[in-house]
Amino acid sequence: MNILKFGGTSVGTPERMRGIAELISQGKNQIVVLSAVSGTTNSLVEICSALQQKDKEEAVALVTALEAKYEKFISELISPSAHYEEASELVAAYLNGVKSYANREMTLFVERSILAQGELISTGIFLQYLKSIGLKPVMISALDFMRTDDSGEPDHNFISDNLTFELSKHPKKDLFITQGYICRNAFGEIDNLKRGGSDYSASLIGAAIDADEIQIWTDIDGMHNNDPRFVDKTEPIKNLSFKEAAELAYFGAKILHPASIRPAEEKNIPVWLKNTIVPTAHGTLIHGDASVPGFRAVAAKDGITAIKIRSGRMLMAYGFLRSVFEVFERYKTPIDMITTSEVAVSVTIDELTNLDGIIQELEQYATVEVDQNQTIICVVGDFQQGGVGYASTVFTALKNIPIRMISHGGSHHNISVLISSDSKKEALQDLNKGVFNL
Ligand code: ADP
Ligand code: ASP
Ligand code: MG
Repeated sequence: MNILKFGGTSVGTPERMRGIAELISQGKNQIVVLSAVSGTTNSLVEICSALQQKDKEEAVALVTALEAKYEKFISELISPSAHYEEASELVAAYLNGVKSYANREMTLFVERSILAQGELISTGIFLQYLKSIGLKPVMISALDFMRTDDSGEPDHNFISDNLTFELSKHPKKDLFITQGYICRNAFGEIDNLKRGGSDYSASLIGAAIDADEIQIWTDIDGMHNNDPRFVDKTEPIKNLSFKEAAELAYFGAKILHPASIRPAEEKNIPVWLKNTIVPTAHGTLIHGDASVPGFRAVAAKDGITAIKIRSGRMLMAYGFLRSVFEVFERYKTPIDMITTSEVAVSVTIDELTNLDGIIQELEQYATVEVDQNQTIICVVGDFQQGGVGYASTVFTALKNIPIRMISHGGSHHNISVLISSDSKKEALQDLNKGVFNL
């Protein structure tokens, strides 16, 4: 079985949907995972914030705009037929559901239910389109198998058992459609895998059924050596190891959800990143452990907060780091980067929900300094043990950028620095010239 995930722009217009139908019609044994039509999840987020601010009029206006958008979309995609009627009715029902929330109290449950509608709509329309052109797809709802546990992590056994069960209901079928991003949580409520989560869905689905291949179809020809949103000359990378791809995804390469490589890596399933607009382009193949020595790519992760914890007690004391880490553990806040000196330790976090509590606890035995609006710049490659010159190339390229923290040696795949977000664009451009000669 192959898993094919199509992102927002790949299903973003009727023309694109036709294009991906064409791609699918050439394959066999496929589970197709769709994102919401591009822009829809953002609109749903806006609807939720209007409702949070009790601005019912604004929320209804946003839903009305979506109704108009989808009416046009469906009439351009599907010619008048029972399938056209079914797609229209389905979208009307989902959007009426969103409208009806305008009269209810806004809760986390309502918010997550609203956010789920984008993928329910895109898969519903696509199913009817495929049927209208004579294909025989089967819809399996992600809400019947995709699930997180009480720590918010995917429940792999549940996913595998229930997905296998859903597929077993249709032994003679070989084309399945499902939603990315959406899931149920440990309480069985509708939830999601965070923004960009459809990549994660595809990888979890692939791992759950030991798929042959996972294909992530998007609007660019694979992973590039640098972020094309900030740097002009970037180049696609043909091959990446799982480790390199995971580092890039985690440290901000938007083409992949941060956690999306792990499930595929655990089951050793190759992941292809392919371009829907130019399907013949090679793209990127992510597989295996082996990599070529040298630099591969740069990524940037924004929204980072640095916390410096300084204490006389740290001097020659063991147990200090443990007490620092325990604070972050108690507040379920992961640490991304860490550097130490004799009397201080600096860590970075990107989850700020419990920042106040963390600071209060740390201040009981240390002086704490907090810097917000920081960015981690992560240079990824295979910097083999004992290899020389890698760090000096990076730091020569960054000679004009003020650096707050440096991290290397955790693995030989990553040299990371923390800088102010204001310097991010310049740093990415400098690295493109200094490291990649582009
Ligand atoms: P989709 O909607 O298909 O999930 P995304 O917008 O989430 O697509 O991801 C694709 C985008 O990721 C590209 O259009 C590109 O702007 C951005 N991107 C950021 N860093 C990279 C990178 N290193 N290589 C390729 N694309 C990247
Ligand atoms: N539709 C969701 C989002 O926009 C998930 C995804 O596209 O991967 O974040
Ligand atoms: Mg994405």
